[in-house]
Amino acid sequence: MARVNGPLVEVERLAGVAMSEVVALGPQALPGEVVGLRDGVVTVQAYEYTGGLRPGDPATAGGMPLSVRLGPGLLGGVYDGLLRPLSGAPTWLAPGARQAAAGTAWAFRPEVAAGTEVSAGDVLGWVDGRPLPHPVQVPPGVTGRVGRIVAGGAYPEDAVVATVGAREVRLVSTWPVRRPRPYAERLDATEPLVTGQRVVDLLYPVARGSTAGVPGGFGTGKTVLLQQLAKWCDADVIVYVGCGERGNEMAEVLDEFPRLVDPRTGRSIMDRTVLVVNTSNMPVAAREASVYVGATIAEYYRDMGLRVAVMADSLSRWAEALREIGARLQEMPGEEGYPTYLGDRLGKFFERAGCVNALGTPARSGSVTLISAISPPGGDFSEPVTQAALRVVGALWALDPALAHQRQFPAVDWETSYSLYAAATTPWFSQHAGTDWPELRSRTLELMQRDRELREIAGLVGPEALQDADRLLLESARIVRDTVLAQSAFDPHDAVSSVAKTHRLAALALGVHAAGTAALQSGRTIERVDLTVARHALAAARRAAPADFDARAADVESAIAGVGT
Ligand code: ADP
Repeated sequence: MARVNGPLVEVERLAGVAMSEVVALGPQALPGEVVGLRDGVVTVQAYEYTGGLRPGDPATAGGMPLSVRLGPGLLGGVYDGLLRPLSGAPTWLAPGARQAAAGTAWAFRPEVAAGTEVSAGDVLGWVDGRPLPHPVQVPPGVTGRVGRIVAGGAYPEDAVVATVGAREVRLVSTWPVRRPRPYAERLDATEPLVTGQRVVDLLYPVARGSTAGVPGGFGTGKTVLLQQLAKWCDADVIVYVGCGERGNEMAEVLDEFPRLVDPRTGRSIMDRTVLVVNTSNMPVAAREASVYVGATIAEYYRDMGLRVAVMADSLSRWAEALREIGARLQEMPGEEGYPTYLGDRLGKFFERAGCVNALGTPARSGSVTLISAISPPGGDFSEPVTQAALRVVGALWALDPALAHQRQFPAVDWETSYSLYAAATTPWFSQHAGTDWPELRSRTLELMQRDRELREIAGLVGPEALQDADRLLLESARIVRDTVLAQSAFDPHDAVSSVAKTHRLAALALGVHAAGTAALQSGRTIERVDLTVARHALAAARRAAPADFDARAADVESAIAGVGT
């Protein structure tokens, strides 16, 4: 190599190397990626700290773009931004560490016999694994006759278990992270990813295979919300990408997740989780790559017919990495110094979400849902990253500092948030929760909208000047906010809310308002319509242990019956 300038390394005489190819730098073989090719000089951006590299050190082209090894044993693992295993707390890896070929042997069971014609995605055999047996599939792009297939038994992950035409198939396969994995066909997203967060499921649902953005200033609850989703949403596999955030937040995840139990399986939630950790102290180039690593792992499980959710915290840190890399390469900056291709890259990343029929037989569909936090500086949503995300995400859960300040969590603002999937997911919710689901949704939204208008008016003329029906509405809206939309991440019985609980609480809270309205209509004045008992009963139901919930909900019903008497 000829020059080392921070993370940029210039190499001469590296013939035939291509843009984006991975190059091993120096005696420790530090990985880097080709970012420029000019006049016989190859510019390589190192993924690691380049201290110690010097001109004259060797550089070797790896022959392929940044790729990861995909295979059994990924679930439950903690990796850095290049999918190299981290043990324990997020720390630095040994320089030049590679994604290790773990020494484990896997129990492989063949599914097809030699001589079978197979094509991409077909299942050749199975590895026993969690949460489901792990299929070994014909890699994308490969078709042919099975030449050889091993008998059932224990094999290390690099062992060749079958040949298809001229191609050797191992338990692990390699995939370039920036290239979306192929599928047979894209399907419409109609089933919700049930998040267990009432404000999201009821008002701004996200469909499986779609995208959601969570913009919010510092302290508005982005990380808590993403972690809640990672813990409790009803996906088969979770990929959590901690991208450029503080190390202590990831340390919390690493500490907490293994102790949590997945209510659906009774096992540790780590069994369905892959953590990709690239905290703010780690090199910027690897941070840029980490979101693609996350998307690739997600697609790998999608291709097995699983429903995957990716949480990325935060996309703003990824965009900052892009900006830093662009600046170093002296590219022409766009708005606020971000590269002009920011929107394009962001769009391409979100396009990796989808609900698809996977390649191969047996037929199976899977999905990748992408949910990203966005951290606009100063909470200003007009900045480029938030704006670029707004153009592509299908659901937006905008976090409001005023709500966070009132400790109304999740601080999802019901004025600016939206979901394009409310209509598409209605049939599912109607079938699984109750046919009145869309009505509960629209009545809740109307109530919150009217509440905002009335509070503005009350701010001007004083609450006493409002009509009785409006005063009632303010009180009912408060009940809805406190018992339906608010949900503490730290309440053992309420951190996650089933669709049934969300439905019941919303129906009860709106029932309180309806009872108050009926009382006013029958001639009572607002002073004689008392919602206090109903409010307390609702609060008790919300916090009730699952076994007590029905009894507490019945208490609310009696309280509602008492509102007008
Ligand atoms: P951000 O990532 O936006 O900076 P955090 O996710 O770290 O913000 O949240 C900041 C604080 O807000 C948390 O430490 C917690 O006290 C509070 N908080 C956020 N969401 C919730 C919630 N759902 N329930 C209870 N407290 C919450």
